[in-house]
Amino acid sequence: MVSESYEAAIARLEKLISENGELESVVARKIEQITEELEGVDVVNKGGFDPDERMKSGFTHFKKEKYEKNPALYGALAKGQSPKFMVFACSDSRVCPSHILDLQPGEAFVVRNIASIVPEYDQTKYAGVGAAVEYAVLHLKVENIVVIGHSCCGGIKGLMSIPDDGTTSSDFIEEWVKICSSAKAKVKADANEAPFDDQCVQCVKESVNVSLENLLTYPFVKERVLEKRLALKGGYYDFVNGSFELWGPELSLNA
Ligand SMILES: [Zn+2]
Repeated sequence: MVSESYEAAIARLEKLISENGELESVVARKIEQITEELEGVDVVNKGGFDPDERMKSGFTHFKKEKYEKNPALYGALAKGQSPKFMVFACSDSRVCPSHILDLQPGEAFVVRNIASIVPEYDQTKYAGVGAAVEYAVLHLKVENIVVIGHSCCGGIKGLMSIPDDGTTSSDFIEEWVKICSSAKAKVKADANEAPFDDQCVQCVKESVNVSLENLLTYPFVKERVLEKRLALKGGYYDFVNGSFELWGPELSLNA
């Protein structure tokens, strides 16, 4: 049916050209336009990225290879969760903690934000993070909170790039990363002569320490840390060299 209409359309066009030869160049130009248009459509439909298809095929793969192959795990998870870890990781697309630490569904309660920052306890400014910490600690009773920084962190680079007068140009980002201003100040005091990239690496690690200290401003976190029912850990994932460091905080629990 389609080819018949196509053939009929071509036949009509050819008849028109045969009756009026001057139309030939006009038709040639029009055909070129149509071809270019169709090539554009081809790029979107065939060679281009289809986000819906990507998500559907991703889920199909997960369901076939993981969900259906682990009925015991997914059956248990259908009833509830009791993760041992709460993890803070950066929103950066390269540092998914489930991937880099091979954490399975049910193992980690995860918060991801710019530069994996834990702000201090503040019921109005930081309710989002506070709710997650409260739920993880009081309801899920996680035994470990791990804050993971990473190499080439754009958020920390942003913090290190804020001018000394403190002026900012973003709506949210700089105000958020300023939570770790004391980390920046420490790096500037200790390693001001170091190359900027090295300073950023140090600032990532110091920012993790600031987050660990901030966790202790949540009374229910501090209480459980003192009772040794909860451990706080810092981590640094370097995706350039493929390494992962883990450390315990040098914290004064009496502070
Ligand atoms: Zn980052």
